[in-house]
Amino acid sequence: MTDPAAVPALFVVNAGSSSIKFKLYRVVGDDIALELGGALDGIGRLPRLKVKDAAGATLVDRSFAADEVATATVAQHVIGDWLLPHLDGYHMIGIGHRVVHGGPTFSGPVIVDDKVMETLTGFIPLAPLHQLSNLDPIRVLRERRPELPQVACFDTAFHRGHPELSERFALPRALYDEGVRRYGFHGLSYEYVASALRLAEPEIAGGRVVVAHLGSGASACALRDGRSIESTMGFTALDGLPMGTRSGALDPGVVLHLIEQKGLSAAEVGRMLYNQSGLLGLSGISNDMRELIASPAPEAALAVEFFCLKVAQAVAALATTLGGLDALVFTAGIGEHSPEVRAGIAGRLAWLGVRLDAAANAAGAPRIEAADSAVPLLVVPTDEERMIGRHTLHMLAGRAG
Ligand code: ADP
Repeated sequence: MTDPAAVPALFVVNAGSSSIKFKLYRVVGDDIALELGGALDGIGRLPRLKVKDAAGATLVDRSFAADEVATATVAQHVIGDWLLPHLDGYHMIGIGHRVVHGGPTFSGPVIVDDKVMETLTGFIPLAPLHQLSNLDPIRVLRERRPELPQVACFDTAFHRGHPELSERFALPRALYDEGVRRYGFHGLSYEYVASALRLAEPEIAGGRVVVAHLGSGASACALRDGRSIESTMGFTALDGLPMGTRSGALDPGVVLHLIEQKGLSAAEVGRMLYNQSGLLGLSGISNDMRELIASPAPEAALAVEFFCLKVAQAVAALATTLGGLDALVFTAGIGEHSPEVRAGIAGRLAWLGVRLDAAANAAGAPRIEAADSAVPLLVVPTDEERMIGRHTLHMLAGRAG
């Protein structure tokens, strides 16, 4: 029996191959409020569980030996064991999950049942690295807590309204019908940023906006009136901008060369493009933007400059799709925290009338354009977990109604 005094709450899981992030939210009316959030990262290397309450106070910070938490499945149990005693007094209404790929099928979140699970499993070949890690906790939790409804929220869903022109590759038509299309990713982040923008800057939010999600994974998205029109990411989360370790857009002839002339297997090419390229490949030093900015090595400077140039080029291309640019928004780890990168990108867009306010940029203010800038420049912190939590609440409320 549920304690009638118990506080309704939901849990959000964002599971990757080497880390699992999680948040517990209290339900407040038709929105949610953070209770605690944490991550177990470094799975199989330097596992560390860190959890903080809503005020930022540390609840746990514990390191493990690599073989103690060698797999994501073990990590789920470690999190579950820590969490369970903290759930007294809460009435859990459900669990929301980040799932990278909803394929051509899902244009919004969905309550998971056997059929949905089967469909999502069928999308594993579309995102082999991520989809499996995302589905594993859903499978485990369906076994352990079958009474709790689970909601899958997709990185692709927000982009499903793209016009056909933005979805196509110039490839034989049959491939499109088979699902070889530009899906776009980071959709939960863009959806959250669009909603935050609507609250903070409604006039801008109604216009033509490019959002640059610059984290370990990086992409940019064209929004018209808060809806996604085009994304730099394509069939996989490999396309578009260079990332921490992913190449971004590449002449497909290079892939043929690696296979045909250098004799690499498809798996070896995959490892190179996903894990050894991007900022790490360019610099030969690090995939971490902070380290590259701090490094005196010319290779590091080249990687940072390459990144800024490609982001600026992407902004210009997306502005062309939009037919203008009413604002440029920076978000995610690099976008929110690196004045150097924001300046590098804005500087390359000066021809568009983009002008940065150096002090506001250094301070990471919400508005960082100079008074004479033709284009407003904004920093909007993203929150993918909150977006998943809201979707979960609304899906479950809809079901209850
Ligand atoms: P993830 O995609 O893993 O969620 P994040 O959005 O946290 O990634 O972004 C991670 C990236 O943000 C890393 O390259 C990190 O170096 C960069 N980053 C975080 N803080 C700063 C900073 N102050 N200056 C420059 N880069 C930063």
